[in-house]
Amino acid sequence: MHHQKNLVLLGPPGAGKGTQAKELAARLGLPHISTGDMLREAVREGTELGKKAKAVMDRGELVSDELLTGIVKERLSKADCEKGFILDGYPRNLSQASILEGILKELGKDPVKALELDVADDVIVKRLSSRRSCPACGAVYNLVFSPPKKEGVCDTCGTALILRDDDKESVIRERLRVYHEKTAPLSAHYAQEGRLKSVPGDLPPAQVLEALEKAIG
Ligand code: AMP
Repeated sequence: MHHQKNLVLLGPPGAGKGTQAKELAARLGLPHISTGDMLREAVREGTELGKKAKAVMDRGELVSDELLTGIVKERLSKADCEKGFILDGYPRNLSQASILEGILKELGKDPVKALELDVADDVIVKRLSSRRSCPACGAVYNLVFSPPKKEGVCDTCGTALILRDDDKESVIRERLRVYHEKTAPLSAHYAQEGRLKSVPGDLPPAQVLEALEKAIG
């Protein structure tokens, strides 16, 4: 159990956590666990969780800790998390950080290392408003940096791309406000425990990836 890579990606919405987590997961052979993706899937499937989460997500606020605890614990219990995992979008506040510590203890796993993507607010607003998502398979594009091969259509499944409700400018501002109030304090929390590495997130994706790999060691 000595070589677990239990990783948490921190950073504002639109910092590139999803993109980097996917790439890192592929390289390290670890599962990418995005609570945002899990919640959006629940919304698409119309499950109880999805029904409870949808309105809150559309406003750019945080879904209650209780709703997340079960799905996170269940996911981290799976066999593919034995050597480690990359959490993206969880924890989102200090209480989730302590819930996560409890879950890991209970499962006999090592504590997480946090990797933070550092990106300024004005960069975030520009990035998120040019982000387009596939409502069917969840693929993410950026009209400026990584457009789909055919305009407006998902490369993978051919579905028409959308601007996520919560990627509209007014909601982006609210998500950033929530980030600074609730999520940003996590950096100090992990730094205090000597478990934080911060990398600049406003470089080209390949350079960010390189910096993250260096930080992981
Ligand atoms: P994301 O794709 O990570 O930006 O998540 C999209 C939305 O899902 C967020 O704005 C929240 O409403 C909700 N969400 C995702 N992860 C969490 C979490 N750990 N705690 C509370 N809400 C979350």
